[in-house]
Amino acid sequence: MVLPGRYPTIEENAVDLHCCLMETPAASKCILHLDMDAFYPAVEVLDNPALKGKPVIVGGSRRRGVVSSASYEARRFGVHSAQPMAAALRLCPDAVVLPVRMARYKEVSGRIFEIFYRFTPLVEPLSIDEAFLDVTGSARLFGPPAEIARKIKKTVFKECGLTVSAGVAGSKFVAKIASDMEKPDGLTVVAPEKERAFLDPLPIERMWGAGKVMQAAFRKFNIRTFGDLRRMPEEWIREKFGKAGLQMHRLASGRDAREVVTGYDMKSIGHEKTFDRDIVDLEGAKRELLGLSGRVGRRMRRYGVSGKTVTLKVKYADFVLATRSGTLARPTDDGVVIYDTVCRLLAKTAFGKRPVRLLGVSVSHLSHAGTGIQLDLFRRDGTWNKRKRLNVALDRLHEKFGEESILPGTLLVKKS
Ligand SMILES: [Mg+2]
Repeated sequence: MVLPGRYPTIEENAVDLHCCLMETPAASKCILHLDMDAFYPAVEVLDNPALKGKPVIVGGSRRRGVVSSASYEARRFGVHSAQPMAAALRLCPDAVVLPVRMARYKEVSGRIFEIFYRFTPLVEPLSIDEAFLDVTGSARLFGPPAEIARKIKKTVFKECGLTVSAGVAGSKFVAKIASDMEKPDGLTVVAPEKERAFLDPLPIERMWGAGKVMQAAFRKFNIRTFGDLRRMPEEWIREKFGKAGLQMHRLASGRDAREVVTGYDMKSIGHEKTFDRDIVDLEGAKRELLGLSGRVGRRMRRYGVSGKTVTLKVKYADFVLATRSGTLARPTDDGVVIYDTVCRLLAKTAFGKRPVRLLGVSVSHLSHAGTGIQLDLFRRDGTWNKRKRLNVALDRLHEKFGEESILPGTLLVKKS
């Protein structure tokens, strides 16, 4: 059963979670997922209390813009983010439309993250208003995890005047789903032994990375809930849905061992790929490097780090390994900059003369941008850097639809 996690029952939850933590081995983790409620509109209401209770939409122009975020009052009319503003206003003609004031949101976000860091150094920012916290080691100082979540919620409200929804669980996956259960101002605690009862009834649409095609396939086999998926034999899943299916099968069963990763932990970020067939043509190699560079940049942005040294790894068909590095004038987290650099480095290898079986791209000499939110995301005048804005938008889509959802145009060539 999902424990009703709102404030009135918090003591119950805390006791419940605490008890099961006492029973489980020390290895079990306590993860919090914290997600600000309708963050941009909430900040607007904070700065202009006259807007309280009104449908507020933050986004582009009335005629051609897109909704960035809508207040809960506006959501009731069917308004949602990424919707064309014109459509949103047809649904909710009385909405107050405000421009995105990113510099201000960033400032508030910095204060909120500063609160998160008071409770644990293990904070993994997912976006400007969302983070995972590993509070496994914080119990002695701050009490059981549900108590920590309650304290954080209280502190954020007291110091920033905003509400945040929290999910408390033994893994990132479950914590993230939990934080969404009772928005706004929610607190949902899933004790480890109640995880299965929590996950089983969830509709399969909530599964991470399950796109439309996957959803349709699930429906075809009458898999409608996490429980339906969990009960299928692994072999069958592997056969029908491949690796991605197995991953979802694991998540549906509550198996998610991913750690909370902070930018401080990392020496370098890299991706590499071994090819089914050796690569000999330059176009093919560049296509792969573009894909790898994009992934590296995306991960760097997620962890709020930039790096100065770009390294290309090339393994030839005879398994001889070559690495070439280049140092940039300024640290970057941009896949295109990384790609340009590795292309230059590729010219310094024997590529073209010898077939290649593996390519790898990594960035090292990482620096951390303040609280984990990229501080240079916005120019001093408060406007967004265009490239960064594009990257942030793409990151969101990846986050939502999975790694393979958006590929640079040239990458699509090879997929047939
Ligand atoms: Mg949010």
